[in-house]
Amino acid sequence: MKTHILSADGESLLQAKQIIDAGGIVAFHTETVYGLGANAFCDEAVQSIFALKGRPADNPLIAHVHKDYDVGKLVDKIPPYAEKLARAYLPGPLTMVYPSKGKVSRFVSCGLDTLAVRVPSSETAQVFLKEVDLPIAAPSANRSRHVSPVTARHVYDDFAGDIPLILDGGACSGGIESTVLDCTGEIPMILRAGLVTREMIAEIAGDCLFYEKCAGERPKSPGMAYKHYAPGCRTAYFTSDELQNAVRCYLEEEGRGGLPYFLCREGLLSSAEYRVLSLGACAEDMARTLYARLREGERKATLLVAIEPKERGGVMDGVLNRFTRAFGRETDET
Ligand code: AMP
Ligand code: MG
Repeated sequence: MKTHILSADGESLLQAKQIIDAGGIVAFHTETVYGLGANAFCDEAVQSIFALKGRPADNPLIAHVHKDYDVGKLVDKIPPYAEKLARAYLPGPLTMVYPSKGKVSRFVSCGLDTLAVRVPSSETAQVFLKEVDLPIAAPSANRSRHVSPVTARHVYDDFAGDIPLILDGGACSGGIESTVLDCTGEIPMILRAGLVTREMIAEIAGDCLFYEKCAGERPKSPGMAYKHYAPGCRTAYFTSDELQNAVRCYLEEEGRGGLPYFLCREGLLSSAEYRVLSLGACAEDMARTLYARLREGERKATLLVAIEPKERGGVMDGVLNRFTRAFGRETDET
C-alpha cells in the first residue's frame, strides 16, 4: 500500500471519509501529537488500530469529535464543573473521561465503563472530524512504545506502507499528548498531565487532584502502566544536580569512539563544546520540542544523555512525566 501525505483539502478529505467509512485507518494532525484514527462505532476498525500499533489490548483509546458534535450522545452524567471546563478549554488539548453510554465499540475503552472524549483544536483535525461526522477512536500515531509523532514525517517513518493516508497539518504546536481528566467524581482528577495544567483546571473547577494508584488497584488509566516514549538508542538519565556525572558519562562514550548527544534545556551546556539537542528554555518549548529531539537523538546518537530540567508545576508536570517515562524511570502507555 502506498502511504500518501496530503494537507486537508476537498479531495483529501473525501478520500479520508471513504477510508474511514470502509473501516480503514487515517492518520491526522492534532495540536498535541498525530493520531491514528478509525470509526469508533466499528469493532473491526478499532481492533485494527491495536493490531497495527502492537498496542496492549487493555490500553483504551480516546474518542475524537468535532466541536459541534453532541457528546451527550456518547456519554452520561456530565457534571457542572466539566461543562465549565469544556467552555473554558475546548476545543483544545484536554481529554475528559465520563461514564459511557456504550454506543461506541467496546474495544475503544477496553472493557471500562467510561469513555475518554476529546475535541481537538487543530484545524486539520476539525475539518477531518467534521467531514466524517463520527467519533474517531485514535491513539498517538506511533508504533507501541516508540516516541509519539509530532510531524507527518514521523508518522510515515513508523507506518509507511501500512496506512493509506496521513492528513498533514505541519508540526504539532503542543507537542505532548492531551491532559486526561477523570470527570466521573465530585472533583476532577488528572490521569495524565498535559498542556491544560492542574492549575488551569483548578481555576475553573475550584479544585483538581492528581490520580495516584492505590496498591493492588487496577489503574484508572491503564495505559499509564507501560514503559513508553523510548528512543531507539542507548540512553542515560541524570538530574540537573548530577551535571558532572552526566558530562563524565558523555566523555566516556566519546572515549570509546561513540557519538554521544546531550538532551537538555537551552543554555545548560555549551553547544560549541558538546553535541547538544536543545529543548528550549521554557516549559512550553520543552513540550513542543521533546519528541522531535528524541527522534533526532535516536537517528544520530550512539548514546543520548538526558538531563532532567529543574522546573516544576504547570506544563512541566506533563513534560517531566514524558521525560522520566522515555528514560525508563517510570512505566507507560502507547
Ligand atoms: P494515547 O492516545 O496513545 O495517548 O493513549 C490514550 C490515553 O488515554 C491512555 O493513557 C489511556 O489510558 C487514556 N484513556 C483512554 N480512555 C480512557 C478511559 N476510559 N479511562 C481512563 N483513561 C483512558
Ligand atoms: Mg500513545
